[in-house]
Amino acid sequence: MRKKIVAGNWKMNKTFEEAQALVSEVVNMVQDEVNNQAEVVLCPPFPFLSSVSKALGGNSNIHLGAQNCHQKESGAYTGEVSAAMLKSVGVEYVILGHSERRQYFNEDNQLLETKVKAALQAGLIPIFCIGESLEQREQDLTFDVIETQLKEGLFHVTNEEFARVVIAYEPIWAIGTGKTATSQQAQEVHAFIREQIARHYDAEAAANTTILYGGSANPGNARELFSQPDIDGGLIGGASLKSRDFTDIIKSF
Ligand code: 13P
Repeated sequence: MRKKIVAGNWKMNKTFEEAQALVSEVVNMVQDEVNNQAEVVLCPPFPFLSSVSKALGGNSNIHLGAQNCHQKESGAYTGEVSAAMLKSVGVEYVILGHSERRQYFNEDNQLLETKVKAALQAGLIPIFCIGESLEQREQDLTFDVIETQLKEGLFHVTNEEFARVVIAYEPIWAIGTGKTATSQQAQEVHAFIREQIARHYDAEAAANTTILYGGSANPGNARELFSQPDIDGGLIGGASLKSRDFTDIIKSF
């Protein structure tokens, strides 16, 4: 179901103590200042999931997400974490297909197809990330890249499964660079994503899908981005590591 979401992707940052401090600040600020404008999701690194889950306690507006999961249910996959494990410690969302996973860990659309399946089967909500590189944008390949990522990595799931998926458009050139996509650039791609969903599933599915923007979102540009008709919120990297900035972004709806 389509909703407003602001998700914080902490990436590989923070020690245990720092993570505890950040989550307690976010919980307090959200409780004091946020009136359910948006659902909040925190995606800390694996070792902190359990403790962040506890720290969230009964706060029904803040949810827990992970940054990745393995495609297999269980077994001899040293160093990996399954979707069922995540579910068992209170995780509800899982980021899949982040460009950093695609780039540094060779995750391709075929692998992501299996990860999406595994996440859905375990009852997690995938936050499926797509986005073009600067080179691809300059060669006018943005829509082709987006279409292929959706078709190969995501659109194999059934209508019922697709209803639980969240999509994040993250242009690679905007991630961690301070170079945000303009609201028009982002809106144009979000509208295209919705068109693709309508073509592959139906108009209702397209209207009901939550599509987040990610890439140098901050308190200064969030309001303009979130005011676009097809942008339903944000997947926030750097700014999610600062409780003040993250809360101000949530308040930008
Ligand atoms: P930044 O907000 O740091 O650009 O990162 C965006 C991102 O990759 C979120 O997943």
